[in-house]
Amino acid sequence: MNIAIVGAGWAGAAAASQLSAQHQVTVFEAARQLGGRARCVPHSVFGHPIDNGQHLMLGAYTQTLQLMRALGLDTEQAFHRTELGIISADARYQLRAKALPAPFHMAAGLLTATGYSWSDKYKLIHLQLALQRQHWKVPAQQTVLQLLQQHQQSHTLIEHFWQPLCLAAMNTPIDIACAQLFANVLRDSLGGSRADSQMLIPKQDLSTLWASHALKHCELLLGHRVQHITPDTTGVLVDGQHFDACIVAVASYDCARLLGHLVHSAAEQTWLQHIQAIRHRPIATLYWQPRSPWLEPEPLLMLHEQPHKQHYGQWLFNHHAIPNSFADNLISVVISNADDASLLGRESLVQKTEEQLRTQTHSRSPLPAFEQHELIIEKRATFEATPTTFRPEENTFWPAIKLAGDWLLNPYPGVLEGAVRSGIKSAQAILQSQHT
Ligand SMILES: Cc1cc2nc3c(=O)[nH]c(=O)nc-3n(C[C@H](O)[C@H](O)[C@H](O)COP(=O)(O)OP(=O)(O)OC[C@H]3O[C@@H](n4cnc5c(N)ncnc54)[C@H](O)[C@@H]3O)c2cc1C
Repeated sequence: MNIAIVGAGWAGAAAASQLSAQHQVTVFEAARQLGGRARCVPHSVFGHPIDNGQHLMLGAYTQTLQLMRALGLDTEQAFHRTELGIISADARYQLRAKALPAPFHMAAGLLTATGYSWSDKYKLIHLQLALQRQHWKVPAQQTVLQLLQQHQQSHTLIEHFWQPLCLAAMNTPIDIACAQLFANVLRDSLGGSRADSQMLIPKQDLSTLWASHALKHCELLLGHRVQHITPDTTGVLVDGQHFDACIVAVASYDCARLLGHLVHSAAEQTWLQHIQAIRHRPIATLYWQPRSPWLEPEPLLMLHEQPHKQHYGQWLFNHHAIPNSFADNLISVVISNADDASLLGRESLVQKTEEQLRTQTHSRSPLPAFEQHELIIEKRATFEATPTTFRPEENTFWPAIKLAGDWLLNPYPGVLEGAVRSGIKSAQAILQSQHT
């Protein structure tokens, strides 16, 4: 078959990797870079590449890791692996899974945690056991906050444990975030093996990490923004070029724009309206070059977000503590759900976040003076993962056109593993349709 893939993000690259061994695959990518929302920014003020956003993966991202290994990538070299932990920058809270088999790794981590009361530790264990007993199923319309309240999680736990985790995993505030999607992430990480619960920080930039390997056997058309996709009797036309099938592996808003003109029936119109209604939330990543390496040994620290002080940082990455990180000695701060932070204006946001870092890391190794910085705000970083967010299937009303992307129906919120799973599923749908 002759197959077109529109979009070289992680979903499109995953689909291409499944198809290109046996089929002729052409990948159209609007940008000059591979990787979509998880890509390298080759020219930064630092004189070396950075990523468009600091990404973190979990050991539970099984399909992504499997695919990388199948492509010949040494995942132990590509990532810095660290035990699941919540270590607050101000040293008030410290919870780290131990090097023991599951479930003792988490149990021992909880028992030795500092900053959380015994009552809070009991409540955390109680919630995990309750979810396990329910086979990680929660009521369909429940939000994360409702789930936490139902299980009597304290204010401290919500503010200094669940909220930062929920924002990191879902980029959606806890009062509207979908409890089922959050429970799925917990099931596969906290509730999985020790390796599943580990956190993986990329040591290579996100474009060279694997997408270039996945697309090795494809015809790759970078800088080509597809304008027209039209099914015909034998397949589909993509900007006038004929293919047997096409995977549209773009974000929901681009999908609506590309396929909107095909919509006629009432069912098709409802489908399109649901796709158009999907909302997105921004993520800001702020990188600094310190004058000298920061000698703090922890690669990842939790920051205390305090909007009344205009301190919006949530997570702090110290690349000096990551051996062989492509990002050298950079320090990065992640602000998920960054709507309010963005309103501050770029210079104020940089200044306030530096103030936050210096205040909250006061008890740690002295933070060196900063030289240059780079602030990247991805306005539509991920879809808003609420209980009512529409998640369509890969199949469309037009048999030769399939969809792929993190926003399609899969067990995860808008994350890399969801994008990869969807790409693989979409490729399988094409292969199946070949036999029917
Ligand atoms: C700042 C930031 C931080 C994040 N942090 C994490 C994290 O820590 N962990 C995690 O798991 N996930 C994280 N995510 C989410 C993750 O990056 C996304 O879930 C994933 O990259 C989505 O991949 P995708 O292939 O579905 O879509 P995309 O990456 O959006 O890929 C779509 C591609 O299609 C291209 N395209 C669009 N229209 C056209 C057209 N007409 N013609 C040709 N090409 C087109 C686009 O240029 C793009 O390259 C983060 C995202 C951001 C932005």
